[in-house]
Amino acid sequence: MTKKDSDKPPGWEEEVWESHPLMERSHIKHNTFLNCWCPHCDAGLNEGDQAVLEIVNNQGEVGISKIAAYLNVLDQESTLHVDDDEELADVRCPHCRASLIEPGHTCIQDGCKLAAIHVSVSDSKKLKLISCTRPSCRWYTMSDEDNERLILRDSHEW
Ligand SMILES: [Zn+2]
Ligand SMILES: [Zn+2]
Repeated sequence: MTKKDSDKPPGWEEEVWESHPLMERSHIKHNTFLNCWCPHCDAGLNEGDQAVLEIVNNQGEVGISKIAAYLNVLDQESTLHVDDDEELADVRCPHCRASLIEPGHTCIQDGCKLAAIHVSVSDSKKLKLISCTRPSCRWYTMSDEDNERLILRDSHEW
């Protein structure tokens, strides 16, 4: 996988969230490329430099969402209309259709549902990345264990 910073479709707004505590603690760059996998069937979710997910909006419509596969780069396009403030009804793997919603966990910012995927950076182990299902909320986390693993790892490739 290679980075293609100059290769984004025109007209996309790039938003970058500069100061996430995880990034500060682990020295991950904001635009680190993430390889993404389904935690259920282990299928790769990347398509070029995007991660592809199946989403369900509050009207029950099913569509595809493509999210920039870079940490803290929030480019996103969707085949469905989803309001920025709308909490998605479901997020699924497009391969096995399993729900990626984390049961029993909610976003600490707004109480929305959370979705989890597996990611890896460079040749790191797969880590669990958990993020809010409301597009305008930028909250995400990794499990504490994974967090420590990231912090302990001191790769120059990052
Ligand atoms: Zn799957
Ligand atoms: Zn949230």
